[in-house]
Amino acid sequence: MSFRASVLTLYPEMFPGSLGVSLAGRALERGDWALDVHQIRDFATGKHHVVDDTPAGGGPGMVLKADVLARAIDEVADDPKADERPKLLMSPRGKQLDQAMVRDLALGPGAVIVCGRFEGVDERVIEARGLQEVSIGDYVLSGGEPAAIVLLDAIIRLLPGVMGSDLSELDESFENGMLEHPHYTKPREWEGREIPPVLLSGDHGAIEKWRKEKSQELTARRRPDLIEKSKE
Ligand code: SAM
Repeated sequence: MSFRASVLTLYPEMFPGSLGVSLAGRALERGDWALDVHQIRDFATGKHHVVDDTPAGGGPGMVLKADVLARAIDEVADDPKADERPKLLMSPRGKQLDQAMVRDLALGPGAVIVCGRFEGVDERVIEARGLQEVSIGDYVLSGGEPAAIVLLDAIIRLLPGVMGSDLSELDESFENGMLEHPHYTKPREWEGREIPPVLLSGDHGAIEKWRKEKSQELTARRRPDLIEKSKE
C-alpha cells in the first residue's frame, strides 16, 4: 500500500497546492502516494459549526476546540484501531523537522497531519490522541498548512519510484550528515568563470574525492554544528 497522507485543516483549498505539480504531482497521479484532505469545520456541531473558543485564563486569540479536532482525527482513519499512521500536529513548539525524521516517515505507511490555526490547539486533544508536534523551524507561521506542505514535499521525494532512485543511493544535503558539494553544468565557461577542471576530467575517483572535500569544506564553514553532530 502506498504512503497515505490525511490532512486536517480549516483551509482544504490550500491542498494539494504545490504538491499537485511537478514531481509530487506526477507521483500523486501515478498513485505513488495518496492524499485526503478534511475540513475540520465539518466535525463541529451546532448551527454555526464553531471550531474555536477563547483561551482559558484569558489572553489574545482563539484556541481550536478539543472535541471538534478529536472527532475529525477519529473519523479520518478507515479503522482507527488498525490505522498505524503517526498523528502529527504542525506546531512551532514541536520537534524540529530534519532529514532523519523525513526518512523515517517516508518508510512508514503515511501520516495524519493536523494543521493548527489561531493561537493553537487545546492541549488535551494533543495528549488524548497522542499527537506528535513537528516544527519546520524557529519562526511562527499563521497556520500549519504551509508547514504540512513542506513536510509532505520532503517525504514524497523519498518514496519508492518518485525520483527513480533507491533511498540508499541518495547523495545530497543532510543524507550523510553533510551539506552537498557545488554543482555545475554547461557551458564550460560562463562570465569568465570556469567549471572546475576535475569535473571535466572523466576521472570518477578524482571527481568523487573533489566532491567529498568540497562537501566537508562547505559544511565546516556554514554548518559546523553538523560536523560536531557527526562526531557524536
Ligand atoms: N501561539 C502559537 C505559539 O506561539 O507557539 C503559534 C500559533 S500559529 C499563529 C498557528 C499555527 O500555525 C500553529 O498552531 C501551527 O499549526 C502552525 N505553525 C506556526 N509556525 C509553525 C512552525 N514553525 N512549524 C510548524 N507549524 C507552525
